[in-house]
Amino acid sequence: MRSYRFRIYPSKAQQERMLQHMELCRWLYNELLRAIRENPSLGRIDTQRLIVELKKEKPELKEVYSKVLQMVNHQLWNNLTVLKALKKNGHKVGRLRYKTSPNSWKTLNYNQSGFKLDEERKRLRLSKVGEVPIKLHRRIKGKIKGVIIKRTKTGKWYAIFQAEEEPEPLPRTGRAVGIDLGVAHFVVDSDGNAFENPLFLEKSLERIKKIQRRLSRKQKGSKNWERERIKLAKAYEKLTNQRNDFLHKLALYYVRNYDIIVVENLKPKNMVGNGNKSLNRRLLDSSLGAFIRILSDKAERAGRRVVFVEPAYTSRTCSRCGFVVEELPLLERVFRCSKCGLVMDRDLNASLNILKRGLDEGLGRPDCLWREDLYPVSCLMRPSSRGKSSL
Ligand SMILES: [Zn+2]
Repeated sequence: MRSYRFRIYPSKAQQERMLQHMELCRWLYNELLRAIRENPSLGRIDTQRLIVELKKEKPELKEVYSKVLQMVNHQLWNNLTVLKALKKNGHKVGRLRYKTSPNSWKTLNYNQSGFKLDEERKRLRLSKVGEVPIKLHRRIKGKIKGVIIKRTKTGKWYAIFQAEEEPEPLPRTGRAVGIDLGVAHFVVDSDGNAFENPLFLEKSLERIKKIQRRLSRKQKGSKNWERERIKLAKAYEKLTNQRNDFLHKLALYYVRNYDIIVVENLKPKNMVGNGNKSLNRRLLDSSLGAFIRILSDKAERAGRRVVFVEPAYTSRTCSRCGFVVEELPLLERVFRCSKCGLVMDRDLNASLNILKRGLDEGLGRPDCLWREDLYPVSCLMRPSSRGKSSL
């Protein structure tokens, strides 16, 4: 379950109505709690049925959406369960308290039904309240299970949606892959595939630099400056969208094709460095972090496994015999083992080490997938797949 919080803007009349509903919820909570105190044999279903009786006694309750009232009962029993658990664990807790002070009930819980979100018109329809404008600053992924309306202390109103991202397990492939994240290529994997940062990202980056230069020549706060500033914000937004699109496709490729995906544990120190990094470098760093997040998310939903390994010496270790070479300058693109004579693209060699390390350490069963016939360590980067950037 994931929560999405959006600001809503109910009218004065709607606000009054919702506050009234909250007070009725508070009254109901106290009534149900009183009933349980008087008759401790009552269960969750009994108090649920009691709501129907109470509606006769207090007809105003009918003004509140019935499911919202049911959720008050739900909340009460949850509180009782939590209290019981605390007691069991030796905590000194008293009895569940009545909510005596006005406005101490602050939510309306629409579970499963009684609400409708119109994303196009940016309106949230709440049963027994009406249509409320909503500021949707992000998309809700997955199936919406419910919405909780909340009023903050400062009088702001929010709608908190609960959405369920459904897992979509993919069929097993019986394959594992190691991925080297890098500078020369965006990723190189242990099957010899290389993916570059796509060209359109560079174009967008060039455009951003151009606007930045123009912006720096304008007088701050002037009309022209403001215009350039908006252009810059839009260019950044476009770049981010393009980048995310690329990262999503790339992550999907790995999740579809492999059961186990081994990547380096990116340390913040690798990502920060000195403050004067170029725009290109910063874009790359943020992209690597975003890629790992997207990959992990997709893998979890698909029932795949992402294994993180320490990146130390993955470039300098021979993937065939394990020998660690003295040094390997960043510009040197070929790995040469002085012990066994292996000659291999440096990133491919690193990705093979990453895979091996993941299978050795991450899974604790070195032999489960590490088979030379599946992952020929002597293979060189396949020329046809080099520089592949379209997926
Ligand atoms: Zn070697």
